[in-house]
Amino acid sequence: MTTAHPQHALPSYLNPDDLGPWGVYLQQIDRVTPHLGALSRWVETLKRPKRILTVDVPIERDDGSIAHYEGYRVQHNMSRGPGKGGVRFHQDVTLSEVMALSAWMTVKNAAVNVPYGGAKGGIRVDPKTLSRGELQRLTRRYTSEISLIIGPNKDIPAPDVNTNEQVMAWMMDSYAMIEGNLSTGVVTGKPISLGGSLGRREATGRGVFVVGREAAAQRGVAIDGARVAIQGFGNVGGVAATMFADAGARVVAVQDHTGTVVNEGGLDIAQLHKHVAEAGSVSGFPGAEALLDRDAFWGIESDILIPAALEQQITADNAPRIRTKIILEGANGPTTPEADDILTDKDVLIVPDVLANAGGVTVSYFEWVQDFSSFFWSEDEINARLTHIMQDAFKSVWSVAQEKKVTLRTATFILACTRVLQAREVRGLYP
Ligand code: GLU
Repeated sequence: MTTAHPQHALPSYLNPDDLGPWGVYLQQIDRVTPHLGALSRWVETLKRPKRILTVDVPIERDDGSIAHYEGYRVQHNMSRGPGKGGVRFHQDVTLSEVMALSAWMTVKNAAVNVPYGGAKGGIRVDPKTLSRGELQRLTRRYTSEISLIIGPNKDIPAPDVNTNEQVMAWMMDSYAMIEGNLSTGVVTGKPISLGGSLGRREATGRGVFVVGREAAAQRGVAIDGARVAIQGFGNVGGVAATMFADAGARVVAVQDHTGTVVNEGGLDIAQLHKHVAEAGSVSGFPGAEALLDRDAFWGIESDILIPAALEQQITADNAPRIRTKIILEGANGPTTPEADDILTDKDVLIVPDVLANAGGVTVSYFEWVQDFSSFFWSEDEINARLTHIMQDAFKSVWSVAQEKKVTLRTATFILACTRVLQAREVRGLYP
């Protein structure tokens, strides 16, 4: 059966009643479309991933039983270059989420102008329930299943929530065994000893800090003495906390999945890192008060708020209570479109995920370039180049926002989608 406007129909694999994070992304695309001029003819291409691979990942558990997990790799767009984006291991991973994350990678990579399309992967698993051996078997089997579509010139995975350098080393090794040659550039975020890049681990948090400094200058907020509240104390939130504290800011609250710690005078971040390394979470940190009501975190007054955990955390429910001047989205997709509007009305400046957390993939790009040339750069050089790219991207986005009188999110989408669709148009359709 044909429909009157098939090009506007939702892909049949989506549940129209619950689009999840992909629905959030579609709303963001609808907001940018009126600003794309003649390129809007191509916008439908952004509303459908290029390729979706769903895989079954069976492993033998340590007790001899067989367990099956659901895995994905979604290649959203490859108009500007090979797919690029992380792999997430989390019990709540869904296809809608991986689709949205892959699309945000397309926008992010174009926003900082690295020569990649957008992709993302995930396995629906709680890695805390697996032994190290089980985690290794899961990673290797998943890599084998997606090896059909990944490769240094095709699609390059990287770390994301609950994946790290070790997982990347297993992925690289599995791919090398399957292909019969060692291609270090097939994944980024690898250990330094295997072609990883200096500065990659800190890159996302460092990028958040760099754009935060630019945003603060625009809003007349001095970093020295600024009150900062952070949700998430992992690879992104933990590094951003250190950099803001080193620059004289007072980190007044940190929340992780176990609890919230608060200190009006500023948490001792070095001590908090030590505590987390020993205790596994921020809870029970002696240098702070524990905030028992998780939701009360959103009401804590700050100058800069950094959601650096998972998506859809800032919603129409808590946005009215948020008292801050600047939000730096360290996480992907932390703010719903309704919350975006509420906060914009309250004059909160939101630096969107697709700009604020682009430092990670930027240094992934440096790693990939270093792997191809087998010539490795110093950490100072990497940090200087990262700072330069993030500052430039912020300035370009800021001027589009001023010129078009739109939010920084819409401005980033305008800049990025224009780049993607220009590439799409000039390449033309095959065949
Ligand atoms: N997972 C990170 C992100 O969401 C980094 C991706 C990469 O380095 O490819 O941006």
